[in-house]
Amino acid sequence: MISDQGKNSGRVALITGSTSGIGKAIAQQLANDGFTVVFHSRSSVVEGQKLAGSIPNASYIQADLSDQVQTKRLISKVISLYGRLDVLVNNAGINAVIPHNLLKDATPEIWRNLYEVNVIAPWTLIAEAEQVLRSSSTRECPSSIINISSHAGVRPKGASIPYAASKSALNHVTQLLALTLSPEIRVNAIAPGLVDTPMTENWVEAHKLWKEKSPMKRGAKPGEIAHIASMLVSSSYLTGEIILSDGGLNLT
Ligand code: NAD
Repeated sequence: MISDQGKNSGRVALITGSTSGIGKAIAQQLANDGFTVVFHSRSSVVEGQKLAGSIPNASYIQADLSDQVQTKRLISKVISLYGRLDVLVNNAGINAVIPHNLLKDATPEIWRNLYEVNVIAPWTLIAEAEQVLRSSSTRECPSSIINISSHAGVRPKGASIPYAASKSALNHVTQLLALTLSPEIRVNAIAPGLVDTPMTENWVEAHKLWKEKSPMKRGAKPGEIAHIASMLVSSSYLTGEIILSDGGLNLT
């Protein structure tokens, strides 16, 4: 039997927002699994180049995903560098912390910004990558898309209603595209609860909630979400799944 590392040799994975937090852990995990990885971020160019320099054949591409021109260019750059794409992880995302009862604080501008980065950018990246994902796909190793959504897109929770709604939209897009792009491309989502990353550093209440109420008694480490991404990528069958990864908080 060929090992995952051997099987993935020469296969290419693009992970958006991968110079920190969950995206960085997923990129490093997929590199360990044998993939050639492409790091990406909006602005941390030095860190991105450093990460890419530490892994054979890896590269880094900068692109602001709130800009459609740069979003499309990200995929064309990957194709011109490697000529193929096997895995696309839509991890880059933004949040806005707004108490749910302060409706006027959730302005149309905040709604638009969140949708632009959390929903429209993943959509554009998938649309631009569809053909190359199809042509890289084989029966044994179908191409794979993973969208990083949130438990807030599954349950009526989250840092703000616009954020939760944007992640809920991403979950629905995941299932619709799983139907539309099969069997060549599998599409799944991971919906994390609290994860220890720069985004949640100062979320004292959330850390307290997970420690006191969740069955696992803590938030996740980025590597634990990366492990789930690796499992999803290594499957040749799963599609249309939204893996709620909240340490069991939803059960309480
Ligand atoms: P993070 O802040 O470390 O990472 C976010 C990444 O998104 C960064 O690399 C940033 O460069 C990128 N990004 C943001 N706006 C961008 C733009 N306009 N163009 C290009 N890139 C942009 O945070 P994280 O916690 O690792 O978040 C990763 C994903 O996980 C996000 O989609 C987030 O919504 C989701 N998530 C996080 C948690 C958590 O508790 N940390 C929980 C649920 C879901």
